[in-house]
Amino acid sequence: MTILRTEGLGKRFGGLDAVKDVSLAVEEGSITAIIGPNGAGKSTFFNLLAGYYTPTSGRVTFEGEDITGMAPHRTVKRGIARTFQTTHLFEEATVLENVLAGRVVRSRSTVFDAVLHTPRNRREEKENLAVAMAELEFAGIAGFAHEPAAEVPQEVQKRTAVALALATEPRLVLLDEPAAGITEEETAGFADLIRAIAARGITVCLVEHKMSMIMSLADHILVLERGRMLAEGTPAQIRSDERVIEAYLGR
Ligand code: ADP
Ligand code: MG
Repeated sequence: MTILRTEGLGKRFGGLDAVKDVSLAVEEGSITAIIGPNGAGKSTFFNLLAGYYTPTSGRVTFEGEDITGMAPHRTVKRGIARTFQTTHLFEEATVLENVLAGRVVRSRSTVFDAVLHTPRNRREEKENLAVAMAELEFAGIAGFAHEPAAEVPQEVQKRTAVALALATEPRLVLLDEPAAGITEEETAGFADLIRAIAARGITVCLVEHKMSMIMSLADHILVLERGRMLAEGTPAQIRSDERVIEAYLGR
């Protein structure tokens, strides 16, 4: 089943087509990698999916619903979570508090519940703590729960961002360079984490430069160049695509 579909998706900034005419179908539960040189439009594409940018043209359909131009606070409720290329964490807060922030999306409490500390509010706080701790365990960083986010290693920060996204209970996660700035050794562990996300039935789209990671991880690859689709296919198809080799892999 197709969970996400874009049709002729485009975004212009002034005279620049950052994304142009991208049509992609993403299968539920699959791992799709988006690759391409710097400035190819990968982050812009994610911003169009999650509603951070409004498309100039085209459509986005998620679980059969047209979500084109839907604002980020609504797409996340709808089940699309993203991480950012440069990790956005609350630096003074602990790792656990950062992941708890993801729970706000699922809150059913009103301001009154929170202020009056009603039974509903207390129940929800307990549930949120349990979910956040479970996601920290899943991400392999429960031992860092009470450390300030600014003080944990880069890899732990990257995993915290993933746990925060998962705490929103997404159906689709968009991971923008999740393994950037971490060591080769840590990258293998990160690939395992991404596989484990997909094994939960959560669809994964990721932007990544580490080709060995992409080739072993992705079910489907989209290659962007100057905002346009250069190629798409399985890792084997992409690896042997002359245009891709020339434009990207051969560098
Ligand atoms: P990638 O993530 O593939 O490196 P981006 O999506 O960040 O590429 O950028 C694609 C192009 O769009 C680049 O030329 C970039 O400078 C431009 N761009 C991205 N965001 C904006 C913006 N908010 N305003 C103007 N230009 C932008
Ligand atoms: Mg980018």
